[in-house]
Amino acid sequence: MTAGGMKVNKSGRVVYLTFPGFEKYGFVRHAFSTRAGGVSGGVFSSMNLSFGRGDDEKNVMENYRIFCKAAGFGFETLVASSQKHGTSIRRVGKENAGTGIFKPQDMESADGLITDEPGVTLVTYYADCVPLYLIDVKKHAVGLVHAGWRGTAAKIGAEAVAAMAREFGSRPCDMAAAVGPSIGPCCFEVDKPVRDVFASVGGIGSPDGFIKDGRNGKYHINLWEANRRILKEAGIPDSSIAVSGVCTKCGQDVFFSHRAMGAARGGMAAFMEIKEENDGN
Ligand SMILES: [Zn+2]
Repeated sequence: MTAGGMKVNKSGRVVYLTFPGFEKYGFVRHAFSTRAGGVSGGVFSSMNLSFGRGDDEKNVMENYRIFCKAAGFGFETLVASSQKHGTSIRRVGKENAGTGIFKPQDMESADGLITDEPGVTLVTYYADCVPLYLIDVKKHAVGLVHAGWRGTAAKIGAEAVAAMAREFGSRPCDMAAAVGPSIGPCCFEVDKPVRDVFASVGGIGSPDGFIKDGRNGKYHINLWEANRRILKEAGIPDSSIAVSGVCTKCGQDVFFSHRAMGAARGGMAAFMEIKEENDGN
């Protein structure tokens, strides 16, 4: 089964999405969670992976355990971002295992995480914002980036590509990327000030390609297309950039959506790791 450009995976009651185009990169494991298969109730039902939103932390922890087992990730190797809608990218390794999950969050601000170490599982959180998955196919490094509208307009995708170049010697031409489930152009309606921010993003072609006039003086921003162009401008080949095309607000029975639900909601997470050599899968 597919949803947009993504494959729907089921393991027990857990449902998660993956990019078919990444299957050829056998050294990488990645996933995007849905609401299905967790133990949380009410507005957090059921696979809430966000701490600090009012859900019982024990439930969130249990959801991580359930999700990791279902999707093949190690629970002990999780490293979670500290998302502040900034553009900071942080390199992490095995020494950071547990950060933001079962150890305190010690990063001041990190909307993007990168690593070249096998057995380090990157985690970023979502409820409409855009997940960017990055893979250096040659050097075997990965990155996971939380791009909200502010991060998108500040080109956090390009910041992550630059950080991987600096830290791992990654060449953008050897990289592949994917733009994950998030609020689509159908639902991301904004007022003029936000529209103006996007209209002034330079270097990614005509804003007409990602800003459309809506009704009642509103505008629709296509964050997927803006991020695709930003990654392309950063040097990643067009043919190596996948876009999920899955809108979290349209799919609010499957996903948590901030626009649809407001603050009383859980959150999804994106996961990515480089497999360890003794990994059976
Ligand atoms: Zn939509």
